[in-house]
Amino acid sequence: MISYEEARAKILAQIVSMPTKSMPLKRLLGHVSAEPVIARIDSPPFDNSAVDGYGVRLDDVSEASEQSPVSLALKETVRAGDVAAGNLAAGTAMKILTGAWVAPSVEAVVMREYCTEKDGAVLVGDCAELGANIRRRGKEFEQGKAVLPERQLLSPPVVALIASLGYKDFSVYRKPKVAVVTTGDELTKPGLVLMPGKIYDSNSYAIDSAVRCDGLEDVLILHAREQLAATKSALLRALRFADVVISTGGVSVGEFDFVKIALEELGVKTQLWRISIKPGKPVYFGIFDDIASGRRKYVFGLPGNPVSALVTYHLFVKPAIKKLRGLGDYADEMWLPARLTATVRKKPGRLEFVRGRVSSDGSSVVVEPATAQDSHMLSGLAGANALIYFPLDAGELPAGTIVKTQLLSWNS
Ligand code: AMP
Ligand code: MG
Repeated sequence: MISYEEARAKILAQIVSMPTKSMPLKRLLGHVSAEPVIARIDSPPFDNSAVDGYGVRLDDVSEASEQSPVSLALKETVRAGDVAAGNLAAGTAMKILTGAWVAPSVEAVVMREYCTEKDGAVLVGDCAELGANIRRRGKEFEQGKAVLPERQLLSPPVVALIASLGYKDFSVYRKPKVAVVTTGDELTKPGLVLMPGKIYDSNSYAIDSAVRCDGLEDVLILHAREQLAATKSALLRALRFADVVISTGGVSVGEFDFVKIALEELGVKTQLWRISIKPGKPVYFGIFDDIASGRRKYVFGLPGNPVSALVTYHLFVKPAIKKLRGLGDYADEMWLPARLTATVRKKPGRLEFVRGRVSSDGSSVVVEPATAQDSHMLSGLAGANALIYFPLDAGELPAGTIVKTQLLSWNS
């Protein structure tokens, strides 16, 4: 069995980001950029006013104050979108609205709060400073500058930035398609009557939801009966459809665990199987070089136990999906310190990811281990928001220990 760290590194080393494509502005949100954001224009694109006010020459207002305002002839009004018709002659002012063009002869804009309009003139009650309230062309950045590197998640502000520079479309990484394959003849679709010995399928909903939390939309759900031929045919359909195949169950060493053998018979190359962690020991990872599409496909065989399936999804599949989506190596795996509120114990020899709830007691971060810790106890995971790292060699972490915790993906 290999260690958690080795398994993670091995998986990520195999993953190559998806091909890129051009995407219209309206659909950018949630994709990852495949080109840097380059300034196509200066920002701001022209000198403009930061306020509603009056454009003046400094000489005209040098003596102005609230008590003794200076009267200037009002020549024109420049609204946002307009260009000033003329230049500012001595003794005159022009009304300039927020975002409107500031002519080169305007030396400052005085806020309208300090001015009063009267009979075609304006009384200016403030001696302005040079450049006051003028947003200068190129002050934020100049045309040609790389404003943001590539491989950024396209969030609302990034989409806004791209739009503000006039791009109609932008290059992004394609999102991988996912197929989820459940195994197990005991599974019943929720909503149907539960016959003796059967359980409701929760894994297909769990993995479908987790994948959607990670920004993917194209998900095919399949079920394989517990026979080699049926397992092979479901996995083949999954491999044809998806870039990432995620199976649950049937990957351990039981007599009816056909996933690994089925995958190998289909030509999937096993990269690893069985990791020294709890939950999630039987995790499988393989790659499939699909001749038909010329694409490499990735297969994760997750354990059947519902908690193990979701925890191993979070630990291994999520970072792989991030890298596929273009988000880089995800080497930034974040473990945050928190103080344990209760003692936890285990047998030394396997790394354990204990489910817990991180919160703040006002001055420090604490983490409370969930009471339901077994791999089939979804309630423990459902009430948790984090994993606690319980090192391989350790047998006990007493209450008060500062432990490493990681927020679960669906919480971050
Ligand atoms: P397996 O790895 O196939 O032996 O499954 C381990 C445990 O997970 C068994 O108790 C299964 O009944 C359970 N299990 C497998 N698949 C699912 C599923 N889709 N939903 C809920 N439980 C499952
Ligand atoms: Mg099974």
